[in-house]
Amino acid sequence: MTKQADFILARAERLIIFTDLDATLLDHNTYRFDAARPALERIRQEAIPLILTSSKTFEEMVEWHHRLHLDVPFIFENGGGLAFPLHMVPPAKETVQHGDFRIQLLSPRYEAILTVLSPLKDRFRFRGFADLTPEAIAKETGLPVPLARKAKKRLCSEPIIWEDTSDKLEAFRAELAKHGLQIIKGGRFFHVLGNQASKGKAVTIIQQYFQQTGGRWASIGVGDSPNDLPMLEAVDIPVVVQRPDGRYLQPLPKHAVRAEGIGPVGWNRAILALIQRWKTLQKRNEKE
Ligand SMILES: [Mg+2]
Repeated sequence: MTKQADFILARAERLIIFTDLDATLLDHNTYRFDAARPALERIRQEAIPLILTSSKTFEEMVEWHHRLHLDVPFIFENGGGLAFPLHMVPPAKETVQHGDFRIQLLSPRYEAILTVLSPLKDRFRFRGFADLTPEAIAKETGLPVPLARKAKKRLCSEPIIWEDTSDKLEAFRAELAKHGLQIIKGGRFFHVLGNQASKGKAVTIIQQYFQQTGGRWASIGVGDSPNDLPMLEAVDIPVVVQRPDGRYLQPLPKHAVRAEGIGPVGWNRAILALIQRWKTLQKRNEKE
């Protein structure tokens, strides 16, 4: 626990938790979250909104949302889009209904991104999900084929496998910028999306949504990769879990809490400790 985290928890009346999925809440290889079950149960008891914040697609996220029994908004495709359950009103005027959710996009639509990427294939060597079959995506990600099919259904970003030199990556980045797009590094892939979209911006929108409901809120964010940095910088208490090789994200965000344990193991420990500390500090405040 950092001093900074203690200071924030002492003042918080409500908590909200944002979390990355791959290699954070979900094991990098097995995609299981069993190790995090005790903390997930505690979150449920305390009615803390748990906001999934991931590079996954809307459809993949709906699947995890069901598995985790959540009924709150989530952030998909690296902050390219936000999904709100139908009983919540999204802050944006322009939204589209998809199944049981209303969607707000912060990135251009998928088709527009592919239109930019397609001619760049003549100058740079890379493959995107649009070029891969669900079976090939399953092989690259270790996902079962039905989930790989959902990973291919993109709304507002394209994961790519970079097969060119790192020098050319900078030229590619500059080319994308001309079209209002950016490239960011995730755990497994690079992701191309609108330069107005980020996990951080999406996190801020959702924090504001909950702040409107009243009370003093404090936010916790948990991640493992460079693409989580904008989320970790947007929350009050950033938490990093150990990566599959045991290392932590570098450079570490300011005041980051280092969870002991890889992926969901660290997630469980850090979240339980933070909630426990928060409850202790609340009791102390009541006595004073
Ligand atoms: Mg990750």
